[in-house]
Amino acid sequence: MENCLFCKIAAGQIPSKIVYQDEDVVAFEDINPQAPHHVLIIPRRHIASIPDLTLEDGPVLARIFMTAAKLAHDMGIDESGYRFVTNVGPDAGQSVFHLHFHLLGGRRLGWSPG
Ligand code: 5GP
Ligand code: ZN
Repeated sequence: MENCLFCKIAAGQIPSKIVYQDEDVVAFEDINPQAPHHVLIIPRRHIASIPDLTLEDGPVLARIFMTAAKLAHDMGIDESGYRFVTNVGPDAGQSVFHLHFHLLGGRRLGWSPG
């Protein structure tokens, strides 16, 4: 999709610190980290947000969640714990309209979100 920041990051047109990628999924460090470990995991294909998902997206969602587990293990936060969230719409503060999940860890995370 034209003019989508995360499509451009996935295509390598905008630089980012990519920590994992395969044919379906890209994971890169958040530019404004909210925790010692803050990685964004996205589908390579443009999906704007949760309401745009269809059953056909099941495999890529599974791969996104499996990537979260692998990266958490690689970063050494699988035992201490982590949070894996996606923001939808204005109240949640979604600012980029290409589906992305935040993987956060490395410190005690407050609940509920402020
Ligand atoms: P949202 O607020 O939509 O849930 O999350 C968007 C996230 O993208 C934010 O955490 C923000 O810091 C991150 N972000 C915005 N622009 C860029 C960028 O150009 N590069 C990277 N790596 N992260 C970005
Ligand atoms: Zn996109």
